[in-house]
Amino acid sequence: MMRLPRFRYLAPTALAEAAAALADLGPGASVLAGGTDLFPNMKRRQQTPGTVIGLRGIAALRARAGGPSRGLTLGALTRLSVIEHDRAIAAAWPALSRAASLVATPPLRNMGTLGGNLCLDTRCSYYDQSHEWRSAIGYCMKKEGDTCWVAPSSPRCWAVSSSDTAPVLCALGAEVTLVSAAGERRIPVSDLFADDGIAHLTRRPDEILTEIHVPAPAAGERSAYVKLRRRGSFDFPVLGVAVRARLGAGGVVESARIFVGGTGSRPQEARAAAELVTGRVLDDDAIRETAAAIAHIAKPMQNTDFSLSWRKSVASAYAARALRELAGDSGAHHGPPGAGPS
Ligand SMILES: Cc1cc2nc3c(=O)[nH]c(=O)nc-3n(C[C@H](O)[C@H](O)[C@H](O)COP(=O)(O)OP(=O)(O)OC[C@H]3O[C@@H](n4cnc5c(N)ncnc54)[C@H](O)[C@@H]3O)c2cc1C
Ligand code: SF4
Repeated sequence: MMRLPRFRYLAPTALAEAAAALADLGPGASVLAGGTDLFPNMKRRQQTPGTVIGLRGIAALRARAGGPSRGLTLGALTRLSVIEHDRAIAAAWPALSRAASLVATPPLRNMGTLGGNLCLDTRCSYYDQSHEWRSAIGYCMKKEGDTCWVAPSSPRCWAVSSSDTAPVLCALGAEVTLVSAAGERRIPVSDLFADDGIAHLTRRPDEILTEIHVPAPAAGERSAYVKLRRRGSFDFPVLGVAVRARLGAGGVVESARIFVGGTGSRPQEARAAAELVTGRVLDDDAIRETAAAIAHIAKPMQNTDFSLSWRKSVASAYAARALRELAGDSGAHHGPPGAGPS
């Protein structure tokens, strides 16, 4: 059985108190939301904070304001199960509702928070292993070692952004507020991520993610999220396609924003695919060509589940499912969720 290392636990009840503690303690401290990512990582000694600052006593981080007509602000501690079961969210931002519903299992969604999901550590088959396993291969560049076993000549780590809600919130044009003892800033969710498996967040170590702001959907806006994973009951995404589009008269796509998760160190924007579909009706040809353009940017490495060649070969089929759902095919996301060769 893997045990947690010893650590000091702080339980602030105000945001200013938490921010002051984080400023004081620096990168040696970690904040804790639901703990469904941080605690397993601590057990595997991937993250070894001397102090854990629990956020659960800060009521302001559970606040909620606005709604579909004005835009929605969710506190970072909003649980994924709350998002999953909220009818207003499902109606206005179906992709967000669906992404939240596809994270892990019901008990984990009851603990896991939206803020924690955005700040989730990147993943890799050579890294998400016990300390003993990693020690046996001499560790790797992400923690305690200097080699990347996925790309040994690479100067960087290619660990994968595996959050389900991250590509969706990027596609929706959402923003986050980050608060530190020095002040606060509000940035697009897409700017929260960096293309580096180690330094994968632009959040400074002294900053707490406090709020997620989702803009009101424009008239005719639709969104969809499709996820590839091995087990339909629970598994991290090895491909996630998030699409938001505004459809005008005759079903013509007036604007689109598409992000892919699970294949790079950050959610990747499929700009060329979005441009390709803009101005067109989502018919079979448009869906096929756009899906191919989405699959083109989903370039997986050999560091997650399934064989690389199979993942590449199914990427456009999964992208097409998201686009068909956008076109109004409500059954498009059904089908074998993660079937395929290992
Ligand atoms: C078996 C299993 C399956 C899983 N499957 C999935 C899956 O399919 N999809 C998926 O997306 N995730 C999955 N997860 C990961 C995890 O459960 C979720 O991502 C969850 O949303 C994490 O939220 P949390 O509140 O528990 O985060 P925590 O574990 O509390 O924190 C995660 C990280 O974010 C930081 N953090 C948390 N909140 C803040 C904040 N407000 N400000 C700054 N930093 C913060 C923490 O310091 C930590 O580094 C899985 C986990 C397990 C154990
Ligand atoms: S991509 Fe390379 S450096 Fe990064 S976690 Fe995997 S093996 Fe380690």
